Amino acid sequence: MRIDVLTIFPEMFAPVLGSSILKRAIAKGVAQVSVHDLRDWSRDKHKKVDDRPYGGGPGMVMRPEPFFEAVAGIKRRIANRRLRIKPHVILLAPQGEKLTQGKAEELSKRPWLILLCGHYEGVDERVRSHLADEELSIGDYVLTGGELPAMVLIDSVARLLPGSLGDAASASEESFSGPLLEYPQYTRPPEYRGMKVPEVLRSGNAPKINEWRKLQALRWTLAQRPDLIDGSSD
Ligand code: SAM
Repeated sequence: MRIDVLTIFPEMFAPVLGSSILKRAIAKGVAQVSVHDLRDWSRDKHKKVDDRPYGGGPGMVMRPEPFFEAVAGIKRRIANRRLRIKPHVILLAPQGEKLTQGKAEELSKRPWLILLCGHYEGVDERVRSHLADEELSIGDYVLTGGELPAMVLIDSVARLLPGSLGDAASASEESFSGPLLEYPQYTRPPEYRGMKVPEVLRSGNAPKINEWRKLQALRWTLAQRPDLIDGSSD
């Protein structure tokens, strides 16, 4: 999968892309991520990409031209390499549809994502209505910019790509991959400060362990996220 990111803070991405599973996925060529400085497409001599909002009001709004021209430029570069893939353009925005595990799975099947990160008061409406294929939010709160949401999206998608995780079963057995949250996990030591690992997990009895895990997953989901079971979160 190819992912291009448009941002005015490209330096924010290096620590995240250079660590852990993302680092490995990129090194293995499972994901190819390019982070672009949106200011490279500014026509302003000071590389400005924002301006005052029409109609007045506080703050600045990101102009449409750098986004449109950057997306066109990146598409041209890919076409020149004779790669016949079509990008899916996503604007990160608090007003967008909520990013869920289901959405991450859907996006992981696409060959190419272009992520647009807003800043300031947001992005000129024409970017949302005429350039983006969809708008995604990572939750009902407002962040300073689209960079952290873009990194959350990249992480949630890249770990689902075949070859990213050491054990592919890790992703299929996780919370939100089915209707239940994951069961509680334990490791060594078997007892710590009087807190014991449940006996069944140390029994070596696989059917009993599976049964215990299913029951715990159900209990946990009913206690923490009953909406996942009764469908009220749909
Ligand atoms: N004025 C906007 C509003 O009230 O909805 C908020 C703009 S926010 C300060 C600047 C940028 O951060 C947005 O354009 C978007 O790209 C990003 N952003 C902020 N919160 C986000 C969220 N929850 N999910 C996705 N992107 C977000």
